[in-house]
Amino acid sequence: MTPPRNSTAARDVAYALHPYTDHKAHLVNGPMVINRGKGVRVYDDQGRDYIESVAGLWCASLGFDNERLVQAATDQMRKLPFYHSFTGKSHEPMVDLAEMLIERAPVPMSKVFFANSGSEANDSVIKILWYMHNAIGKPEKKKIISRLKGYHGITLAAASMTGLPANHKLFDLPLPGFIHVGTPHHYHNALPGESEEDFATRLAAELEEVILREGPETVAAFYAEPFMGAGGVIIPPVGYFEKIQAVLKKYDVLMCVDEVIAGFFRTGNYWGSQTFNIQPDILVCAKALSAAYLPISAVMVNERVFQGIAEGSSTVGTWGHGFTYSGHPVPAAVAIETLKIYDEMDMLSHVRKVGPHMQAALQQRFAEHPMVGEVRGVGLVAAVELVEDKAKAKNFDPAKKIGARLSKLGEKHGVIMRAMTNDSIGFSPPLIISEVEIDEMVDRVGRALDELSVELRRESIA
Ligand code: PMP
Repeated sequence: MTPPRNSTAARDVAYALHPYTDHKAHLVNGPMVINRGKGVRVYDDQGRDYIESVAGLWCASLGFDNERLVQAATDQMRKLPFYHSFTGKSHEPMVDLAEMLIERAPVPMSKVFFANSGSEANDSVIKILWYMHNAIGKPEKKKIISRLKGYHGITLAAASMTGLPANHKLFDLPLPGFIHVGTPHHYHNALPGESEEDFATRLAAELEEVILREGPETVAAFYAEPFMGAGGVIIPPVGYFEKIQAVLKKYDVLMCVDEVIAGFFRTGNYWGSQTFNIQPDILVCAKALSAAYLPISAVMVNERVFQGIAEGSSTVGTWGHGFTYSGHPVPAAVAIETLKIYDEMDMLSHVRKVGPHMQAALQQRFAEHPMVGEVRGVGLVAAVELVEDKAKAKNFDPAKKIGARLSKLGEKHGVIMRAMTNDSIGFSPPLIISEVEIDEMVDRVGRALDELSVELRRESIA
């Protein structure tokens, strides 16, 4: 149906260049226009409701109508709508938020640097690492090791660390000095009969080989999400981070953890680092930090890293890095309110209650489904991976875009879904979701999958 000429949909096609969108298809299909939200649901311009099974982009942790966050932003805008933090300037919201994050950190941390997005925060970490090693007289220690299928964002350094093909070749990336090691996904990458523990041992050995090949004196950091999010909700095998960190310690390589999705209860602990026994030197968070109501991200560094940066003032020159909006008072005020709401409603207990319910409901509905290869997850995040051949764990040909077809059918059944590589369907609903809403979400996705199965059967017969 052609939308009316002056509608939002028509003007979208006329004027908007979208992120992560097939532009040619968009010219034909147009956008899905969402214009209101309530709880875990959003509503389109026709008034249809959808359960947001991925909280937007893994971020709207408190749902879509939290009044306290609106009030916090309004109050702060009236008081001080903007001030910066360059050259030692400060303001209360930034300081309060930094203090709250340090108090909540999974390991002792020293200082917090603020940016506006996950990508900016990750690029900032790379600059911290490079500046720090210049400052302490180790200018050759600059390489960064991350993982295939990891996702760290799309700015130049962040995209270089990301390990997905769509983010690399077509943009002339990765930059030099960014190295990728194997994906810790037991289901696809373990050898026949290999235990999770043995698989983890093999991945740690691979990391050690890469460090030795490159020269430990040239490797600054290992960069990882606690579980891989956009790469398909890949949960590391038992013992993985313990073994990886033993290697990093041996060669004095810093551990950087990207908690942009995992942070703030998603895995059933405050931090993914706690769930997977990670002791980061640098921790990045964003998204649920402000419940996504305003853009803000944070980089926490430990005392060793801070001392390295501080050293630069006398050895190489002033730390010339920062954004106009680093620590912006309005998103900072919203983030403070978000963290207070998490504490007051005891979000940790809530996630520990509804998370297992979601995992069980997904297992029950999908594990035996002939089109499902693996149902995996932790806390309140999961994936259902669609396969062509269940016995052989063989995915569909990506050209068939099976996951994208399921997402489209999901819209018809009232659920917004996220299809990722290998047709893995992600589940990362707002943290406030109830058990009843989880059941409704799983039911809607289940009906979409049943409809897709029928369509595929019909197509193979035709
Ligand atoms: N790191 C991780 C783990 C992410 O999932 C994302 C975004 N999904 C980013 C970084 C990038 O964040 P942003 O889109 O805010 O730049």
